[in-house]
Formats: sequence, C-alpha cells, structure tokens
Amino acid sequence: MPREYLKKATLTSKSDASETKKIVRGILDEIEAGGDEAALAYAKKFDNYEGEILLSPEAIKAASALVPEKLKQDIQFSHANVKKFAEAQLGTVKDFEVEIVPGFVAGQKAIPVDAAGCYVPGGRYSHIASAIMTVTTAKVAGCKHIVACSPPRPDVGINPAIIYAAHVCGADKILAMGGVQGVAAMTFGLFGLPKANILVGPGNQFVAEAKRMLFGRVGIDMIAGPTDSLVLADETADPMVVAADLVGQAEHGYNSPVWLVTNDRSLAEEVMRLVPTLIDSLPEVNRENATAAWRDYAEVILCGDREEMAATSDEYAPEHLTVQADDLDWWLGRLSCYGSLFLGEETTVAFGDKASGTNHVLPTSGAASYTGGLSVHKYMKIVTWQRSTREGSKSVAEATARIARLEGMEGHARTADIRLKKYFPDEDFV
Ligand code: NAD
Repeated sequence: MPREYLKKATLTSKSDASETKKIVRGILDEIEAGGDEAALAYAKKFDNYEGEILLSPEAIKAASALVPEKLKQDIQFSHANVKKFAEAQLGTVKDFEVEIVPGFVAGQKAIPVDAAGCYVPGGRYSHIASAIMTVTTAKVAGCKHIVACSPPRPDVGINPAIIYAAHVCGADKILAMGGVQGVAAMTFGLFGLPKANILVGPGNQFVAEAKRMLFGRVGIDMIAGPTDSLVLADETADPMVVAADLVGQAEHGYNSPVWLVTNDRSLAEEVMRLVPTLIDSLPEVNRENATAAWRDYAEVILCGDREEMAATSDEYAPEHLTVQADDLDWWLGRLSCYGSLFLGEETTVAFGDKASGTNHVLPTSGAASYTGGLSVHKYMKIVTWQRSTREGSKSVAEATARIARLEGMEGHARTADIRLKKYFPDEDFV
C-alpha cells in the first residue's frame, strides 16, 4: 500500500532565509569593525540590556543563590548523566599508530580544541539543559577555555539557573549576550575572551546564520534549524502517550515540525483527535507555538507495514525519533537516519532533552542523513603524524617521486629525490 497522508504540512521552515542573511551579515560586519562597543549596542537594541556583560564570580554566586535547592540537585543529576555519557564517548576516541611498511610508522591523535564558545538559547525559553549539554561535553573533551553565552532578559540578565548550570558544568566565563552579538563576541574574542576555535549550541535563525557565516574562520558543531520530531507507532502504542509526545515537541516553536508515522489507521485518527485537546490545555505561549506547529508543519502518515514506516522515517531523517512499537531491536537495527533515537514508551524525547545523558544538540532539517549530534568528537581534532627509519622511507620516497612527476609537481618529486640520494648514495632510482 502506498503511504497515505492523513495530515500534510502546508508550510516548510525554509521561508525568510535571505532577509535573515542580510541582517546577520550587517551585524557581524559592524561588530567586527566596532568591537566591544558595537556588540554592546546590539545587546541594548535586541535584548534591552545594559548590565554586566562578563559575569564576575560574585555575580555567579549571587545568581546561584537564587536557584531553588531541588532545581540545583536536578541540574547536578543531569550534569552527572551527560558527563558519564560523554566520558564513555571519549573512551571511543583512540590514539593509535600503525606500521605502514617496515620502518615507516603513521599515527592518529585526538586533540581537543583550545577554546569552545557555547551558545545557550534563552529567547523564548530558558534552555538550562543546553548549558549542561554544551559545556559539560566541552569539559570532558578537554577544552582549556570554555565560554558560555546566553541572552539576558531586560534589566534582569541571564536566567540564574542557566548561570548556575554553566558554572557547575565547567564554564570558565559566562557572557550575558545573546543572538548574533553573543556569537560574534566569542568568535572575535571581544571583552577579553579567548577567540573561540569552535562554536556550539542551538539557537534561532539569527544564531544559526551567524554560525554558518563564521564557519571556516571558526569551527561549528552544525547548523541547527527548528527542532523536529518523528514518532513511529504501531497498534501496540498508547494513543494518549503518542499524542502527548507530539504536543511536547510541537511547543518548541511555531515552525517545529512533528510527524507521526504509523501502520494503524485507528491509532492515527485517535491521536489526531487527542492532539488539539492536549494543546488547548497548555499555558498561553506554549499553546500558541504548538497550535501553529501542529496546524502548519505537522504530518500524519499511514504506511502499509513496518518496513515502509522505517523507510519513511529514514527519508525524513528526523532530529528526534521515537519508536512506540513492538520488537524494538528490529527498529534499532533497521533505522539509520536520526539525531537521537528513543526506543519504547518508557523513554521519551524530553528525557534526552533534559536529563538522561545523551546530548540534545542534534541535527535538524534532514541533516541526520549525514551527521549525528553534539559529542566529544566535535570538540576534537583528529590529526595524524608519521615518522620513519631511512630504510623505511625508501619505498615511500620512490612512489612519491613517480606520482608527483606524473602530476607535474617537480618540486614535490625532488623532496623525495634528495632523501633517496642522501640515504642510498650508491643506488639508482627511476
Ligand atoms: P535564542 O537565544 O536563539 O535567540 C535570542 C536572540 O535572538 C536575542 O538575544 C536577540 O539578540 C536575537 N534576535 C531576536 N530577534 C532578532 C532580530 N530581529 N534580529 C536579530 N537578532 C534578533 O533564543 P530563541 O529565539 O528562543 O531560539 C531558540 C532556538 O533554539 C529555538 O529555535 C529552539 O527550537 C532551538 N533549540 C534547539 C535545540 C536543538 O538541539 N536542536 C535545543 C534547544 C533549543
């Protein structure tokens, strides 16, 4: 049976890119030319903030004192889980050396970048968890300078819980600046900060565009668009749980797509009946986001069997992928395009977003077809080295000289010749 759309998106989230590019280009150019002053002017313009920009130890202490004890414990719990997972990842990054030909050894080393700039979004929601995800992972990777930046609220500054989280997770500096100006400050090394080698973390379209434009002079984790989520559900799924999970992800933003892919028509119809009711019961801002996301971007797709469901999911390459279906091992083995996979009803995207240890900075807009999310690896340079005995270099030098000459690169060839003549003066080489 060909797949059937019981609900189809009417919009795609690739709308006003050219206007965003123009705005971001202008801000970056002005800040690069004008330095601290220009960045401060944009902080005033966009966030109406004129308070402390680089938080002092006293300010961090004062903010931490405002965080309720239970929330501090939750942040520490999440930090411990993210750290544990990142440390396990670090264990998979191996330095090695291998003898290529007798006497000639080549190796690999993983070197953490020196300075990481972590963007912690704070416009619409206060993304405490983004501070935990980006800073903890940078720390485990071994970055020496970690800056966290987040947009301040007018007159109030960064949410105290974000400050506490960034500090507990290991940020060396916390910058009360958001949007393009925050990203620019970390990249250009404003306010006495070290120039970032890599920018990580999610953000809105302005943040994403700034990272895209700065990529090359600085590394980035990925370009993150609006959050997206797909639920794969069969007849064993609980429609109420499926509906709650879709609504939970639709509240991210007006343009955050959620997709349901199922082989059970009656489950799909029940979920479509439940979702608007659940959305209606949300607080106002969340309701507005979820209403628009469900109306304009959501899709419900009916497939013939689980193979077609899996193929459909891989085509969408969702950022978050939930499976509420029988035979979870089959799905784990079969699915290949997702940022993070949530197997079974007992876990859900929000667990990964907030506290279960896997990273929540993930590829969006189909990027999961070619990349995974934020991990210790993104903060590391996988570099190579080589050394050789004179005897070991002989066959490599001969091959190099011949290949280089064929390419027309005489200078290259002669770097091989000079060694062959020096080490093996009595031999003729062609
Ligand atoms: P944000 O911190 O990304 O952006 C706020 C900043 O945007 C402000 O400081 C301001 O400087 C700037 N800004 C606002 N309007 C502007 C304009 N007209 N011109 C130039 N700059 C402007 O916070 P947000 O807006 O709430 O967005 C957060 C985003 O992060 C959401 O899209 C959310 O879905 C995403 N997110 C993604 C993940 C993930 O892992 N993919 C995780 C958490 C959040």
